[in-house]
Amino acid sequence: MKFWPASKIFGFFSNDLAIDLGTANTVIYVRDQGIVLDQPSVVAVKSSTSEVLAAGNNAKSMLGKTPESIIACRPMRDGVIANYELTESMLRYFIREVHNNRKALVRPRMIIGVPSGITQVEKRAVEDSAKQAGAREVYTIIEPMAAAIGAGLPVEEPAANMVVDIGGGTTEVAIISLKDVVYCKSARVGGDEMDKAIVQYVKRKYNLLVGERTAEDVKIRIGTAILSDESNKVEIKGRDLVTGVPKTVILSDAEVFESLAEPISVIIDAVRSALENAPPELSSDLVDRGIMMCGGGALLRNLDMLISKETGLPVRVAENPLLSVVLGAGKVLDELDFFREALLR
Ligand code: ADP
Ligand code: MG
Repeated sequence: MKFWPASKIFGFFSNDLAIDLGTANTVIYVRDQGIVLDQPSVVAVKSSTSEVLAAGNNAKSMLGKTPESIIACRPMRDGVIANYELTESMLRYFIREVHNNRKALVRPRMIIGVPSGITQVEKRAVEDSAKQAGAREVYTIIEPMAAAIGAGLPVEEPAANMVVDIGGGTTEVAIISLKDVVYCKSARVGGDEMDKAIVQYVKRKYNLLVGERTAEDVKIRIGTAILSDESNKVEIKGRDLVTGVPKTVILSDAEVFESLAEPISVIIDAVRSALENAPPELSSDLVDRGIMMCGGGALLRNLDMLISKETGLPVRVAENPLLSVVLGAGKVLDELDFFREALLR
């Protein structure tokens, strides 16, 4: 006999949420509905009262442009929770936004993907803010575990599943077997460090000051981890540090490649160190199974090829690297009994 869930019979949503609380982007998935929110992890508050004025895209557009009476920041910037109260405010704001838009009769269960370096105190803070925002039950899962599941790796098998999740603030490298973490390491390098490296390069070479958002744009447009034959160029605008007036410079992909060398080498080192620390039986699995890349940084041109070249292992990029964590977390919530060991305890 088939049992219909109450939500189907009465026509309200099951409304359970999966949340990827990333250093660069927060993504929320609702069962039966899909992705309902995908916004930058930025919050703007009143300096005097800490009242939240905006979060997400609206807050991002204020970054670096606020008067003293307003603080706009990325509270998760470096992977761990840099500013705890602001992270809570942002999370609550996003959940409310999603929650208010739906006719929810039952308080939702929530699963939240958190950085692997999170402390017990920070984990509790995240859980508390989710509860305050209306959660009935809250589960947490570390991001690389969720990413592995979201990318479709068979984490339940007694075999090595290796993920490299390159986000904004961190690169998390993990080896998972039997739904549990065998090795996990978070390095404080990711897309932000790449952006900063471009800013520094342009400053040194051209005496030109550009913002990090301009640098990010350059990275996405012509950044590459291996230089190819065809050459690409972009025009960038900034402030001349000598004359103080606005100036335009043409930047080539060879120059961007050069400026990205340092952060990329840190990512490669993190991958190598995971391989060195893997138990031998799992190492041998990796020869065939290879490495799965996810996170926005996995989209950097040729980075997969470079990692494959440096490690000698096959490397794949997840189908939707920016959504792997939230999709994996959603799957865990759907099959909670099966995936219980994968949750953060
Ligand atoms: P987080 O999980 O930390 O929130 P994401 O997985 O959302 O991070 O990835 C965000 C990072 O990915 C940003 O630094 C962004 O610049 C970078 N990114 C997004 N698309 C690309 C791309 N096509 N090439 C290179 N980097 C990218
Ligand atoms: Mg992430």
